[in-house]
Amino acid sequence: MIDIAERPALQQPEYPNPARLERVVHRLGQMPGLVTPLEIRQLKAELARAAAGKAFVLQGGDCAERFAETNPARIRNRIRVMLQMSLVLVHGLGLPIIRIGRFAGQYAKPRSEAFETVDGVSLPSYRGDIINGPAFTEAARIPDPSRMLKAYYHSASTLNYVRALGSSGFADLQTPEKWGEALLNREDDSASYGHLVRTIKDALRFLSTINGDLPESIRHVRFYTGHEALLLPYEEAMTRSVDGHRYNVSAHAPWIGLRTHDPYGAHVAYAASIANPISIKIGPDTPMDAVFRMLDRVDPEHEPGRIALTTRMGAARASDALPDIIRGVRAVGREVLWICDPMHGNTRKTASGHKTRSFEDILSDVQQTMAVHRELGSHLGGLHFELTGDAVTECTGGYDGPTDNDLHQAYRSLVDPRLNGAQALEMAFRVVEAQQSLPR
Ligand code: PEP
Ligand code: MN
Repeated sequence: MIDIAERPALQQPEYPNPARLERVVHRLGQMPGLVTPLEIRQLKAELARAAAGKAFVLQGGDCAERFAETNPARIRNRIRVMLQMSLVLVHGLGLPIIRIGRFAGQYAKPRSEAFETVDGVSLPSYRGDIINGPAFTEAARIPDPSRMLKAYYHSASTLNYVRALGSSGFADLQTPEKWGEALLNREDDSASYGHLVRTIKDALRFLSTINGDLPESIRHVRFYTGHEALLLPYEEAMTRSVDGHRYNVSAHAPWIGLRTHDPYGAHVAYAASIANPISIKIGPDTPMDAVFRMLDRVDPEHEPGRIALTTRMGAARASDALPDIIRGVRAVGREVLWICDPMHGNTRKTASGHKTRSFEDILSDVQQTMAVHRELGSHLGGLHFELTGDAVTECTGGYDGPTDNDLHQAYRSLVDPRLNGAQALEMAFRVVEAQQSLPR
């Protein structure tokens, strides 16, 4: 096994009291897993199908979850919008949808600056609730290892509720005409969405008629979970050895972010040491050579479903930057799962200082990415969004969406801007439209 401790570990907090850290890590090591190796292996098999163009991944959730926001309404809203999106995608793409929540563990954030300076005072940056607190005080910003245990409990209660909702049947699924009323009653091209929704409703009615009820596979919805495997003491503490393999049991599908995707770094070494499916974020400036080295380290066996490359090129660069990456990966004989993250290459700051993204840029990134894959004969196997079911004003645009000047109304994210519920559902419709207008 690779010795992770020997590798440079970027983006790690400095805990002032190593003995406390040690105690927390020990305690976490005794806790039950949040997910099981069996589920992890099952997801890997499903992802292998997505890589082959026979299924499609919908990944979504907050940029950063907050402990204070673990509440049933928020969890339900997010699950609802992801289910609505998946029904639209199932229907429009004609493929089974694999849902991966960016939740129940998305608590650690990489930061470009280690310190934040306000009025001449410098304090360590906020790195997510699993590490420190957002208040601009010295006490809040000191990394506190006990936050890892809190993150574990918040993840457990979130996931427990998601599993409960998923197995007790989500009533809203059966009343698609009630989704996003504003979106469906719009004046311009509402006809196409209205038509799609009616078709979905008819299909559901048909299924319940022939089965007496909706089939098990529709009533029981499965959510897998994923988060950025950033805080290595936590990830390592949540790793268990089972049948000769190491599994991260805090999430099914961890990912390696752009700031830590160094082929020689500790995060890639950690990813190589576990058997979970791994997704690696790739930007327009990621050297091809680094991509190859990461693939060789993390997936030496070319195992189906093991690797997703999540490209986050940005609308300004997707068409230019993506083709070489796809061709390069193919040229070394690899079949990976391609996912598009259309959020992280499209972030901008408004005059008022809000971090935002426009719906149109996000969509354009998706459209370009789909077109490139189609042209090169490869499969875009999934989409990764930052979204919430709540009516926040963080991203601009979409039908009736906020403008730059509206962002202050309900801007809640402490890190990156999310699509709100209406924007997320509209995005699913637009993705289907984009797919249907691709050249055959
Ligand atoms: C994220 O997914 O929130 C993130 C920080 O992404 P990236 O590593 O692609 O910048
Ligand atoms: Mn983000």
